[in-house]
Amino acid sequence: MNKILFTHISAIAVCSLALLCSCNHNSDTKVANDPVYNDLDTTVKPGADFFKYANGGWLKKNPIPSAYSGWGIGYLVDEELRDRLKKLNTDALKADAPKGSDAQKIGDFYFSGMDTVDIAKQGIAPLKPELDRIAAIKDVKGIVVEFAHLHDIGVETPLGAGVGQDAKNSDKNMLYLNQDGIGLPIRDYYYNTDEHSVTIRNDYQQKHLPAVFKLAGLSDADAAAATKNIYALEKSLADSSRKIEDLRDPYHNYNKMPLAGLTKLCPVVDWKSAFDEMDYHNVDTVIVGQPEYYRALNNALQYYSVADWKNYMLKNVVTAFSDELSKPFVDENFRFYGTVMYGKKTQLPRWKQVIDNENGLMGEVLGKLFVKEFFSEKAKQRYVDMVAAMRQSFKEHIEKLDWMSASTKEKAIFKLSKVRPKVGYPDKWKDFSTMVISRQPYALNVISANNFWHRFEANKMGKPVDRDEWGITPQTYNAYYNPSNNEIVLPAAQFTIPGIKDEDVDDAVAYGYVAASTIGHEMTHGFDDQGRQYDYKGNLKEWWMPEDSVKFTKRAQMLIDQFNGYEVYGLHVNGKATQGENIADLGGIAIGLDAFKKTDQYKENKTINGLTPMQRFFLGYALGWLYEERKEATRSGLLTDVHSPPFLRVNGPFSDVPEFYEAFHIKKGDKMWIDPDKRVKIW
Ligand SMILES: [Zn+2]
Repeated sequence: MNKILFTHISAIAVCSLALLCSCNHNSDTKVANDPVYNDLDTTVKPGADFFKYANGGWLKKNPIPSAYSGWGIGYLVDEELRDRLKKLNTDALKADAPKGSDAQKIGDFYFSGMDTVDIAKQGIAPLKPELDRIAAIKDVKGIVVEFAHLHDIGVETPLGAGVGQDAKNSDKNMLYLNQDGIGLPIRDYYYNTDEHSVTIRNDYQQKHLPAVFKLAGLSDADAAAATKNIYALEKSLADSSRKIEDLRDPYHNYNKMPLAGLTKLCPVVDWKSAFDEMDYHNVDTVIVGQPEYYRALNNALQYYSVADWKNYMLKNVVTAFSDELSKPFVDENFRFYGTVMYGKKTQLPRWKQVIDNENGLMGEVLGKLFVKEFFSEKAKQRYVDMVAAMRQSFKEHIEKLDWMSASTKEKAIFKLSKVRPKVGYPDKWKDFSTMVISRQPYALNVISANNFWHRFEANKMGKPVDRDEWGITPQTYNAYYNPSNNEIVLPAAQFTIPGIKDEDVDDAVAYGYVAASTIGHEMTHGFDDQGRQYDYKGNLKEWWMPEDSVKFTKRAQMLIDQFNGYEVYGLHVNGKATQGENIADLGGIAIGLDAFKKTDQYKENKTINGLTPMQRFFLGYALGWLYEERKEATRSGLLTDVHSPPFLRVNGPFSDVPEFYEAFHIKKGDKMWIDPDKRVKIW
């Protein structure tokens, strides 16, 4: 054992003296490669800022690299992944792969993206056919036809159409229409008066839009005029777009209507022709998310001139494919969306940009190769078992709830028993055979891939829902709950702790890192402010006793108030918009804790590197949120993201958990202390 290790242990002992004294020091195990011990910052008291105590050591040693808006554990997983994917790509390039094979697609995509000499020569030329189509438009009818065409190649349009499971009949795929079409991420950027929003809005009008128009070939004067009109046009759509917290109510955003109803909202658009152009055939009923938005679109299509709409589309086409064009396009896109919005200083190396793009467009092709090499059956079984342990623990929690009636409990437990876990990777992989990739200009490969995805989605219309489909790839460091399938989807990459083999991760850390922060988190999404409104089959349907809903909402409101109270860089957390995620974090921890209490490691209560099993559980959870972000990224996230900033996903819910107070001896007067009667408990 090296000396440094012992120095650290004595430092911990100072912080949590009483607890360490209650343990058997003789049985303490020293582990060199300990993911939760080596990065502690023992100069911070756990009760002052647990996130910093747990992760501060690492954060001090690892400043954010210039090409990133943040840095932390998910980024490390991604870095490892990129290296692996690079090898797959360079191998594919060398191989003389048969045309149409996965290897040929990967190799040629990579080749076209890396060929910066040719890309520089081409300039905007690869988009010429698209620009010519726009130039030829004469009237509103032509505008709508072009919207439909742009939709098919992955360019944003204000029509906002897409296929999804009918929220009230999850066996059926339906056409949804949702607010879309603004250039800034959410409507608030057009109105908010905080410094961050104003900076972004000003840059967008004064620098970004003029630059894009000039790159697209407009004169200075025309670019200035186009900017003014396009900004006003977008603002008119933003005017009738809902705030992110108002998008959370599934009933309010579900307005099923016959095609005639949509035509009444927005008569300027010939919807039948538009849908046919978008390969959505025989549509007689649609689900409109925000009817007022489609009324506003109808007005905008009449108020703004055909020339304005042509400029609007020009801007959207150039923006959509900027990263695949020559350097001036890439640079301006990065300047605005990378630097101004997220604080990144430099661009990623070209090969990483190309691999990220490829991973986004053909992720499952790469994922198939990824899991074969990097996710063992043994690891898969560990997490399948952990899902079962979490389900059991959640069930026991529901049974013990003092605020829920017996009849709602019975239904909640039944819904829980029907949650389908998808662990690691899909049983059935997507078929990419009709995606055409060649050594053509890079932008055309991306157009082709986008069009493949459009056809993939459009093809779902009128067909039974494929409940085996995965919405993310196995190599994604993320997870999700889909209420329409009542399923949790847990990709292989999410179980990874960089630099440590799965078998070397002790249960305490794994239960914090995976069971609480991911499995439990996703499971409780089925019962958060949104998820609880769906039944066990994934249908939007009332199944709670009204008084239980009232009690749930009261508890959720306490958590909204708690998070509204957190302020970062002059902006408050949006407690209402983030409530679903905060409920899931808090629930995941509570359920994870009790699942962990059933393991041998907890029962044996032996310390590792001086840390008790319970302490390691909380540190394992905090490891999952080992991130720091640039100021710009945090501010953007506070406005646009339904998740709280990473440090609050640790400190926020932990302040509500009694076992946390016990494990680290948090006292009244410590910064994280919340009076017991103010602590939130939902699950
Ligand atoms: Zn979540």
